[in-house]
Amino acid sequence: MTERIFNFSAGPAILPLPVLEEAQRDLLELPGVGMSVMEISHRSKTFDEIIQSAESRLRDLLKIPAGYDVLFLQGGASLQFAMVPMNFLSLDSSADYIITGSWGKKAIKEAQKFGTAEFAANMADGGFTRIPAQDELQLNPSAAYVHITANETIEGVEWKTEPETGAVPLVSDASSNILSKPLSVQKYGLIYAGAQKNMGPSGVTVVIIREDLLPRIRDGLATMLDYRTHANNKSVYNTPNTWGIYILNLVCEWLKDKGGLSQMQQENQEKAKLLYDAIDGTDFYRGHADPDSRSMMNVTFRLPSEDLEKRFASEATAAGLDGLKGHRSVGGIRASIYNAFPKAGCEALVEFMRDFEKKNG
Ligand code: PMP
Repeated sequence: MTERIFNFSAGPAILPLPVLEEAQRDLLELPGVGMSVMEISHRSKTFDEIIQSAESRLRDLLKIPAGYDVLFLQGGASLQFAMVPMNFLSLDSSADYIITGSWGKKAIKEAQKFGTAEFAANMADGGFTRIPAQDELQLNPSAAYVHITANETIEGVEWKTEPETGAVPLVSDASSNILSKPLSVQKYGLIYAGAQKNMGPSGVTVVIIREDLLPRIRDGLATMLDYRTHANNKSVYNTPNTWGIYILNLVCEWLKDKGGLSQMQQENQEKAKLLYDAIDGTDFYRGHADPDSRSMMNVTFRLPSEDLEKRFASEATAAGLDGLKGHRSVGGIRASIYNAFPKAGCEALVEFMRDFEKKNG
């Protein structure tokens, strides 16, 4: 028996119960091994099978074409904010950043430490409520890359289709929507994502990189910060996050058993629709993002006052709906409803919203 509550946390976030149960069952002894996954060498046959399985399941789920490497790194998406420009920006090049929220702002700030990073669009006006249209982008055809944030976790705005960048490689921070829907990996030069929302625990970062970009990496980087180190050594140049990769492998298995990413997309759309319909159905709640740019993973909305928002979040917690307080930088309410979050939790939140409005509206 567990007493798990509805966990709306933005990340680390809810993991599939069957994954936690399997990890619990095998925590002391991996079947046939007699030791915990945390106690075995990252160069053992057992771990080699785990990391290979994690990679091949990710390749299957995301339909990653040949010609891309899949890396399991550390340092979170935040280290990728630095690694991308360190590897691909040189003194005589620049990169374009499309800023649709707080994480994109952090990414460009980091890039500016290593070279020229331009705002191809900055959607800060109005508090990051929408994704720009193609004709709003000021793209430099000779940029080293174009960077987007596939889903802005804090503001709750999400790209529905990729921007057209011609021959310039598209780089995406997909931390908060990877594996939530099918992805056209072939449109990207590089995709990175921290695992702790849709893939596993914190501490492992997935990087999917097109192999033809590897020769463009500038020389002289610290070994650990050079993508080639990890590509050439299959992510075991040093000790990777073995536990994180183990869980990620189980999450991918769970996703496959559920029917893959098209199925996930359908379920995620249904869950998000429940919440957006509840928001749109009244003036008491106000959605943050423009309808066309709304995130399927992080549903952000406001109430008539900050006081009411505070009360909403704390009463929700008391009712078993946890993690709804918006990010400290923007306030409001945020319901993060990643793959493992059940539809019943969205239904419970809708009911709570109706009751709360009745009492306070
Ligand atoms: N990018 C996005 C879109 C995120 O949501 C987050 C974390 N919430 C980050 C980057 C930073 O990730 P990390 O904490 O793994 O460095």
